[in-house]
Amino acid sequence: MPFKRPLSSSDDSESNDERQDNTILVYILRAKIHPETMSELASLVENYQFERVNNRPSERNLELTADVEKADIIVTATNMRQRLERHIDWRIAKTKPIVSPSWLRDSVKSGRPLPCGSYVAVHDLDDETLRICDIAQHTPSGSSSEKETSWQTELDEPVDAAEVESLSYDAKYSCLRPSPLVCPNQNLVKELDVIRRGRNVEGEERSMLSYSRAISVIKAFPHVITEHNIQGLHELPFLGEKILSMIEEFLKAGRITEAQTILGDPRFQSLSAFITIHGIGPHSARRLYDLGLRTLEELERYYEVKPGVSDEETMSLLDAEASANKEAAVEQSIKIGLALRHDLNQTIPREEVEAINRTIMQELGHIQKGCKSMIAGSYRRGKLQSNDVDIVITHSDWNSGSQKVKGLCKKLVQRLHEQGLVTHVMHLSGFHEHDALRMHHWDSLEKALTVFVWRHDSQPRRVYRRVDLIFAAPEVFWTAVVGWTGSTMFERDLRLWAKQQKGMKFDSSGISRRRDSKLYHPRTERDVFKVLGLVYIHPTLRNADA
Ligand code: ATP
Ligand code: MN
Repeated sequence: MPFKRPLSSSDDSESNDERQDNTILVYILRAKIHPETMSELASLVENYQFERVNNRPSERNLELTADVEKADIIVTATNMRQRLERHIDWRIAKTKPIVSPSWLRDSVKSGRPLPCGSYVAVHDLDDETLRICDIAQHTPSGSSSEKETSWQTELDEPVDAAEVESLSYDAKYSCLRPSPLVCPNQNLVKELDVIRRGRNVEGEERSMLSYSRAISVIKAFPHVITEHNIQGLHELPFLGEKILSMIEEFLKAGRITEAQTILGDPRFQSLSAFITIHGIGPHSARRLYDLGLRTLEELERYYEVKPGVSDEETMSLLDAEASANKEAAVEQSIKIGLALRHDLNQTIPREEVEAINRTIMQELGHIQKGCKSMIAGSYRRGKLQSNDVDIVITHSDWNSGSQKVKGLCKKLVQRLHEQGLVTHVMHLSGFHEHDALRMHHWDSLEKALTVFVWRHDSQPRRVYRRVDLIFAAPEVFWTAVVGWTGSTMFERDLRLWAKQQKGMKFDSSGISRRRDSKLYHPRTERDVFKVLGLVYIHPTLRNADA
């Protein structure tokens, strides 16, 4: 577990509190905390007992202390050293983890004390807080019966209303705009998205991008569009005359003729069905269509696939990194996708996404202790149903984590396979990849696109799910999380913003400055935004696609 009480001379058996060894003493610094918040935090501490650790009841408890010297952790809303020093002796401050109130809220929410890495309150004490946490994590626990929880899931903080206020919906880049999952003009967005999809299957990329951009601007527009305010849309970026006239048509008729024509087009219907299969992109879809194929059943016959039956030998793709035969690998993944399409094309509810993450991280705990994960993708953006599960994994130890995650992806996939939880690996990569644009060797993103199978809860049979596992060294964990949270337009604009406005390069495996290749190692997700000169945007407001 992340916490063991640091040894302190004043903290001995003479002390009055008869607390158990597992109790974490919390000192809340009142300064700068509103009285209401103070009582909220105090009651969180007082009412909460961490209930379950590794599905076993835990005696771990939180307790308030008024004596900062005895505290195991200090919670404060202050982030300046000078202010903190007015209330707490600097020598003491340096020996304790000092965290923001979100640590308390998130720990209580997740039912266990979280590592403090993401919650460092005073940046002057970054290193101290992290070091203390690290030491705490690696000191053998006082009670030998207590096994370390070897993984935990990072949780998102709540949306900060003031921060959202400071964003502007008419900005040029979607990474500057707040884009909710469902917007006030969602039906219009859906209609325009039909046209975008039409362009996509036909390979008309420029036109597709225009629709994507228009959609993402409308996603962030906070008012219902009516005849009265439609003139105002001229001020927004990326809404050209053609799209504005489509919006007008939609306002009058409730639909857009071109979208309706596309929907009714048998070619569009075939191509759209084809691209739901993993491994088939628009280009292959058109090739298959040109061969005269029209339905998924016809594709099955073409690829000689029996529905529901898949070749379990595809784990040999684990060695695909060594094999140069990319085409064969793609064909294999199309066959898997086709055979299992009745499951894989079903969406996955949030609760099952979480259960899959827990199961996978528990398996990982058998190979490597101390890892942590973040579920990214559409789940993190707040979608109730996801098409797949994207899990970004790292090790909690900032200093040694990089070594510890190396090679872990393949080991985990092998273990999941042995446990009967992964049947196929569509793609495994990243071990020796070298990014030519960087001075350093960025082999930090190992990833496996897998087919996971299990019987969840009371489901009548086993179901196949697409699960992507992405491994990142701690230095690039948060860039990987940002890169895999999406949405697609948000990601595209993050890269563009970094390049055009900041002279930087952003991708899932890191941030660098172009002129001297300086690398940035953000310690939190907020830091990723800060480094890129952006206001933080909550994951649920990164829905810049339809
Ligand atoms: P859903 O899975 O429910 O359809 P999603 O938004 O999670 O929606 P994904 O295709 O799973 O969509 O992708 C999640 C995010 O991860 C995307 O926004 C994309 O930016 C990123 N991503 C996907 N594939 C890669 C990849 N190979 N390399 C880097 N980033 C990727
Ligand atoms: Mn996804």
